[in-house]
Amino acid sequence: MLQPTGLDILARWGLQESAEQLGQRIDGMLGRIAPNGKVVLDINYRVLAKNERDLYGVAIHRASLFHVLYNAVKERDITIITDTRIESCTRDTGSGSSKPMRLIDHNGNTLDPQFDLIVDSSGAQSALAQHSPHYKQSKTLTYGALWTTVKFDAQHFEHNLLEQRYDKASVMVGVLPCGQLPDNDTQLATLFWSVKSNHMSAFRSAGLEAWKESVVRYWPAAHHLLGHIKNLNQLTHASYSHHTLKQPFIPGVIFIGDAAHATSPQLGQGANMALLDAYALAEALKIRQNVEHCGDLYARMRRTHVKLFQAASYSLTPFYQSDSRVLPAIRDTFFEPVSKLPFARKMVTSLGSGLLTSPVKRIDKIAASEKMLQSS
Ligand SMILES: Cc1cc2nc3c(=O)[nH]c(=O)nc-3n(C[C@H](O)[C@H](O)[C@H](O)COP(=O)(O)OP(=O)(O)OC[C@H]3O[C@@H](n4cnc5c(N)ncnc54)[C@H](O)[C@@H]3O)c2cc1C
Repeated sequence: MLQPTGLDILARWGLQESAEQLGQRIDGMLGRIAPNGKVVLDINYRVLAKNERDLYGVAIHRASLFHVLYNAVKERDITIITDTRIESCTRDTGSGSSKPMRLIDHNGNTLDPQFDLIVDSSGAQSALAQHSPHYKQSKTLTYGALWTTVKFDAQHFEHNLLEQRYDKASVMVGVLPCGQLPDNDTQLATLFWSVKSNHMSAFRSAGLEAWKESVVRYWPAAHHLLGHIKNLNQLTHASYSHHTLKQPFIPGVIFIGDAAHATSPQLGQGANMALLDAYALAEALKIRQNVEHCGDLYARMRRTHVKLFQAASYSLTPFYQSDSRVLPAIRDTFFEPVSKLPFARKMVTSLGSGLLTSPVKRIDKIAASEKMLQSS
């Protein structure tokens, strides 16, 4: 899900339109308890729309988002080296003020290119981040999920809605219409099913038909999507981990995206936070001429939003994915009535849309005040 935050960044880079052409506009998220259908999550972006400004999310297949970003990189003539796993980095020794950084691959080879600054965007398992003194062992979450992409069924599902069904916090099934792949206009949906990572072998032994029966028991309409799934290999298992670097930079290296802060995708913010990080870093680099001095500015631009959303994701995920009996009971009893109160509804939507703490405005504000300081 691209949230209004991520879309704002893509718009600044001139990429929003191409992302929207491949993605699917999403106006809200609806979660119901199975099988009685009671609504326990109801988010509609419109609640936050101001001055006629349309507000929405865009669900997009990972390959399509990659396609949009990759094309933008290609247009900039950036050299790309593929098939190389980076393990660590080093700074060239010697005299002179500029001592460039170099990357070291998994065979221990130091690569030829030299860099003023390394930007590590290698995700939640980043080797560089794990070597950072600011890294605290990540926590592997008990629950992950199985994910697959199926043909969208417009007769039984709504185009503009992310829908989920829950039973306590141990069962969650979701359907997210997600647009199309770059080279094929078939409209797709993502189907996901919560699973404990240590239950994967039991899941495989039970087989595909047993899984399909469980899905249909909790959500009969999902039957219309399952026909496309012919074997278990069509389901990708994703496990989730949670970590936040205390400081997203070390001399010569800046961490962005999941390398700096990873979490469960329950709030659907990770890709958006990675885009916000990239934008903040670009702004910091424009202001601080010396790349060695842009880390603290970049970190300041992102600190509040990252802290808040990492904490929110960590504390809210167990309401939807855990073995707890108490948390889903609280969710099922209170979330709906509370979310009907206008203030609470706005808060929940601000959280779900990533807009709480106005992260883009904050980056722009800090950039503007730094520029003023420099010119005075
Ligand atoms: C199942 C699932 C659903 C999600 N749903 C959402 C959602 O709806 N909305 C949302 O905003 N976020 C979502 N997220 C989170 C989102 O995918 C991540 O936050 C986002 O992809 C982070 O982007 P990134 O560029 O930092 O890292 P990644 O997307 O993980 O990219 C890292 C890249 O670095 C490469 N790499 C890794 N290690 C090395 C190495 N050693 N050397 C060289 N290259 C390396 C990888 O191959 C990869 O290409 C979801 C995550 C999962 C797992």
